[in-house]
Amino acid sequence: MNVAVVTVGDELLAGRTTNTNATWLCERLTERGASVERVTTVPDRVGDIARVIDEYRAEYDAVVVTGGLGPTHDDVTMEGVAAALGRGLEEHETALAWLEENGYSRADLTEGTANLPIGARPLHNEVGVAPGAVLDGVYVLPGVPAEMKAMFESIAPEFAGEPTYREDVLAAEPESALLDRIERLREEFDVSVGSYPGESVRLVIESPDESAAADAAAWLRERVESPR
Ligand code: ATP
Ligand code: MG
Repeated sequence: MNVAVVTVGDELLAGRTTNTNATWLCERLTERGASVERVTTVPDRVGDIARVIDEYRAEYDAVVVTGGLGPTHDDVTMEGVAAALGRGLEEHETALAWLEENGYSRADLTEGTANLPIGARPLHNEVGVAPGAVLDGVYVLPGVPAEMKAMFESIAPEFAGEPTYREDVLAAEPESALLDRIERLREEFDVSVGSYPGESVRLVIESPDESAAADAAAWLRERVESPR
């Protein structure tokens, strides 16, 4: 299953907020076996939001959008999603009823709080107020990290794929010196290998076959210098 992540917010583009939602979503989706193919940040503008969602929903099995829910003037994500899907927005009765059951009176809710694209399935916000929505493979979640995480967990089972087994091997050698062994590893085992230099080089071996990943890692560990 291929997934695109879209984070919405001027503050992300201006560098005022660190995009921890993108990293968290990528990690959770990957853990579940989904393959994240794109992460894109767009400003709080209906046209920009609609354009990427329209493009990505044609390209990927699912699009996960976060940020810009809620009823304030700069929260236009639902409008952008509705435009991309060719729907209008309407007050969602189930979402409103759930909010009422959870202690909010309709009169106190800011107008537009429960406006979702017509035909959407509402996602309840266990931590905050603004509901999320799912429609045509597009999942719309809040921007506040605690709200986003709780809502994602309610839909996590919808993201699945072949599990990938991963083994990390650390090498205390320059990356360029490791190339011969990486090449041999790739010839001898049916695995993918990533190389991530830092204090030492982290070699990441991945495979849908658990024993292939384990065998490849064992082979490599015997042939690289390990950090002390
Ligand atoms: P609200 O209903 O409270 O307005 P919202 O869904 O509209 O929530 P935003 O207005 O986009 O969310 O963001 C609210 C706050 O959540 C931001 O000020 C920021 O602190 C945090 N936030 C938003 N997006 C992200 C992100 N991608 N990564 C980390 N934090 C974020
Ligand atoms: Mg907001």
